Amino acid sequence: MALGFGVVGTGAIGREHMKRITKTLTGAEIVAVTDVNQDTAQKAIEELDLKANIYADDTALLQDEKVEAVLVTSWGPAHESTVLKAIEAGKFVFVEKPLATTAEGCMRIVEAEQKHGKRLVQVGFMRRYDSGYRQMKDAIDNNFIGEPLMVRCAHRNRETGENYTTDMAILDTLIHEIDTLHWLVGDNYKSIQVTYPKKTSKALEHLKDPQIVTFETKSGVIIHAEIFVNCQFGYDIQCEVIGEKGIVKLPEVPTVEYRKDGVLGSRILQDWRNRFNDAFNNEFQDFIDSIRNEGEPKGPSSWDGYIAAVTGDAGVKAQESGKVEPIEIPERPLFYQLNIKSEVK
Ligand code: NAP
Repeated sequence: MALGFGVVGTGAIGREHMKRITKTLTGAEIVAVTDVNQDTAQKAIEELDLKANIYADDTALLQDEKVEAVLVTSWGPAHESTVLKAIEAGKFVFVEKPLATTAEGCMRIVEAEQKHGKRLVQVGFMRRYDSGYRQMKDAIDNNFIGEPLMVRCAHRNRETGENYTTDMAILDTLIHEIDTLHWLVGDNYKSIQVTYPKKTSKALEHLKDPQIVTFETKSGVIIHAEIFVNCQFGYDIQCEVIGEKGIVKLPEVPTVEYRKDGVLGSRILQDWRNRFNDAFNNEFQDFIDSIRNEGEPKGPSSWDGYIAAVTGDAGVKAQESGKVEPIEIPERPLFYQLNIKSEVK
């Protein structure tokens, strides 16, 4: 039996996920949808020629017995309420980041899930499912490079729109590194500092760009992360972990190599969708398969969503203060520890 998904929010990424569930993945189907804009929901099911029910809101959608898992792809401030209602109804949840827009909201979800007694929620931190990051993680976990000492990484976008603000560099852009890096080095963050190099003339007046973020982990690993969202040349994700015995580096995305007009070159991707399309497919297939085979999701948990929120808040504080700001993350509850090792094979 296919896992029945109810979709809350049929905007850009909601429709992409609906398409991948319907056309690319196996073992799941879309059975219900809702959006604040009913026309958008109607259009989304027509595009894919689905026989899904359309509901007025998430409360009505959750009452549909065919909905076994909820895909939460509404805008961030609406996530917490839908996730809490889904837990209350005992339904599985795949929620796009952020889990909730505040650390307190994430903690309410963590507490509700623990009260329920088994994991229901997976957060859409898809980089853990990218084959390059997974190879790096394997190398680190297998002691191939010895203890990690330093990390250098970069998150570059070609350009940003008018609505992109300085804090979004942490909360919307770096949020993926925030999740990936503590998982990669197997350590918790201790502090964060943000410094601003010379500003690019390509960024709008109100935006500080680029930014350099320095994390220190509890065991002393120093991580330098560059955020440069008006780099002009494309979408570029870099990551290198320097260990006691060697270095592992994220591979470049393979694109065709060309020889033309005296140049030996290859194209740089322009869009995150292309860069992480396989990772998105892998994370969803893992969510579906884990529920079907093991009865609960194994990927990034509510606790990981909480870590990202606490770290993001400290990052925004560090942007404003210019100081080293502490990141206070309590010990991972046993409920979530059981799932750490089995997250991604
Ligand atoms: P979007 O295009 O604005 O889509 C959101 C949709 O949800 C819109 O149709 C919106 O309607 C609707 N909506 C808002 N509140 C709702 C509610 N309470 N109930 C039902 N529907 C509601 O945004 P998006 O780009 O798809 O992003 C959606 C989420 O995915 C965001 O949290 C974003 O951060 C996340 N995301 C993650 C990644 C990733 O890399 N993992 C990438 C992109 C986006 P209106 O337009 O009428 O308000």
